[in-house]
Amino acid sequence: RAKKKGRNQLCFFEAAMQEQFSRNYLIETELKGAVTRQDFQLHYQPVLDAISSKIVGVEALIRWPNCSVKCFPDEFIPIAEQSGEINEIGEWVLDSAISQLSAWHQNFGCTLTMAVNISAVQLGSAALVSVIESLLAKYHVAAEFLVLELTETALLNQDENNNKHITLLCELGCKLALDDFGTGFSSLSHLVNYPINIVKLDKSLLPVADTDIRHMKIVKGIAAMVNIIDLHIVAEGVETEFQRDLCNKLKVNELQGYFFDKPMSGADIEQRWLNRG
Ligand code: C2E
Ligand code: MG
Ligand code: MG
Ligand code: MG
Repeated sequence: RAKKKGRNQLCFFEAAMQEQFSRNYLIETELKGAVTRQDFQLHYQPVLDAISSKIVGVEALIRWPNCSVKCFPDEFIPIAEQSGEINEIGEWVLDSAISQLSAWHQNFGCTLTMAVNISAVQLGSAALVSVIESLLAKYHVAAEFLVLELTETALLNQDENNNKHITLLCELGCKLALDDFGTGFSSLSHLVNYPINIVKLDKSLLPVADTDIRHMKIVKGIAAMVNIIDLHIVAEGVETEFQRDLCNKLKVNELQGYFFDKPMSGADIEQRWLNRG
């Protein structure tokens, strides 16, 4: 009997593995040529100044409406990193985001910043720096308006190229943000040893700070530490008024989250934030 149960569980496990495998395989297959088929879109999530509640920038977030299975970047970006498609996708994201930013600067006379997520694999690519430099020139956008979001994993990847590229991007004048801070290593030395300008507190920190006093103190500690070395802090995943108030107490500089806005199309950004004379 126990043996039979064991075998059923094994079958279930195998079926689940098989299903996951097929799904990944399908996604990997559809990713090939997806840029050429113009399959992707960018959505933009507003980043607001904590004091004035005015928009100061947006983060570009990729969407894939044409995929035959509903799938979000947390699922398909890692697959694209493994298959190598990430470099082409990443270039498409940079081109679209910088061209959109240029249009907003010209048409609305605004000074929004554009944050773009850069994967660890992209950071290792020799072409990244020159691609970014030529896109900024092509669209006449000053480097200071482009924020490149890196993760600690990308820094930790002790690849000499990564370090070299980070230095070059900084010399180009781009702003560098450390994304998802507070989940992985949360290492002080990363903040000191790399030319980081902005720290983004991970969206998982605020909900636990809501309910647990010790977590709240840790989030306070992280914010104080970042404040003390004069880096800019952005809180992501602000969902409630309580969390917004907590961020203000912690002297977070900028806020991003569903409490204010979800990621939306470029047209919706214009409608909601820019078309106001
Ligand atoms: P991320 O860079 O940390 O982006 C923030 C994620 O949190 C986004 O998920 C955003 O939609 C979501 N979010 C925003 N406000 C809230 C909130 O109030 N509550 C909650 N629970 N979530 C919120 P999304 O768009 O699904 O992207 C997931 C991740 O995929 C991103 O995390 C980023 O690491 C990666 N990603 C997205 N677009 C790109 C891209 O163009 N290139 C690369 N390399 N990675 C990307
Ligand atoms: Mg990000
Ligand atoms: Mg993040
Ligand atoms: Mg992330």
